[in-house]
Amino acid sequence: KELDLDVGITNGVGCTILGLVGDTTAVDMDKISINPHVERVMRVTEPYKKANRKYHPEDTVIELSNGRSVGGNRLAVIAGPCSVESAEQFDEVAECIADLGLTWIRGGAFKPRTSPYAFQGMGNDGIRLLQEAKEATGLPIVTEIMSTDNVEMFEMCVDVIQVGARNMQNFDLLKQLGKTSKPILLKRGLSSTIEEWLMSAEYIMAEGNPNVVLCERGIRTFEKLIRNNLDISAVPLVKMFSHLPIIIDPSHAAGRRDMVQPLSRAAIAAGADGLIIEAHNDPAHALCDGAQSVSYTH
Ligand code: PEP
Ligand code: MN
Repeated sequence: KELDLDVGITNGVGCTILGLVGDTTAVDMDKISINPHVERVMRVTEPYKKANRKYHPEDTVIELSNGRSVGGNRLAVIAGPCSVESAEQFDEVAECIADLGLTWIRGGAFKPRTSPYAFQGMGNDGIRLLQEAKEATGLPIVTEIMSTDNVEMFEMCVDVIQVGARNMQNFDLLKQLGKTSKPILLKRGLSSTIEEWLMSAEYIMAEGNPNVVLCERGIRTFEKLIRNNLDISAVPLVKMFSHLPIIIDPSHAAGRRDMVQPLSRAAIAAGADGLIIEAHNDPAHALCDGAQSVSYTH
């Protein structure tokens, strides 16, 4: 009652059920369960509110400055290399993506690599090349942010800010991005549940930024033939529980180019709002993720 909730009491034979009615998002279940008289605490409603379809039944459509959107009736197709590597590479890929009439261009400038000895991305120079590609093609650009130090610069320089799988629960970063007005492409963590993922979206939205696009990119399973396992159920589940658009990344899900087409088809059939696909002009010599990159001939 101190939390401004109504309490409904059901007296049973061996136990009493207390039903909390009201906004329970801020209720700490652990605090209730440490009371020695409490046997069990169950959440009936989801712990997220702004991302929840219950409070926002219509689908969210994220609009970008030049009339491109994600969500709604049109499939968004985003493509580009894992990393921006050079002006020659990026210009060539960007031109091809523009010719194909795709929605946005992707390209990593700050790369989260498993090994500290692997190519870490071009950093600020990569952001400059992304901006040049945007000027040349008119297509919006999406790129991954790794540090809270770069939030201001990203807000100025890019159209969509990507939060990678490894940073899905970097709550400081999520909070700062919530203070911007840029659309955020929030990838699902490597081993995160759908509820944890939607709670991360809630972190961004709770700070005032409603423009979140979710991206399923495969989760860790025991299967070794693929890099990750695309969780296709994420599409209908997210649609059930949230109004946010969801796109699929078949490239990081599979880690191999021959799976990109079937997984893309499955994603569209399941109702995804878009695809984000790694594409390179010379996959054999890509500095990152060449094996999963498609090219003109694939
Ligand atoms: C990426 O998109 O380049 C990337 C690193 O993806 P993820 O965070 O899904 O691994
Ligand atoms: Mn990649």
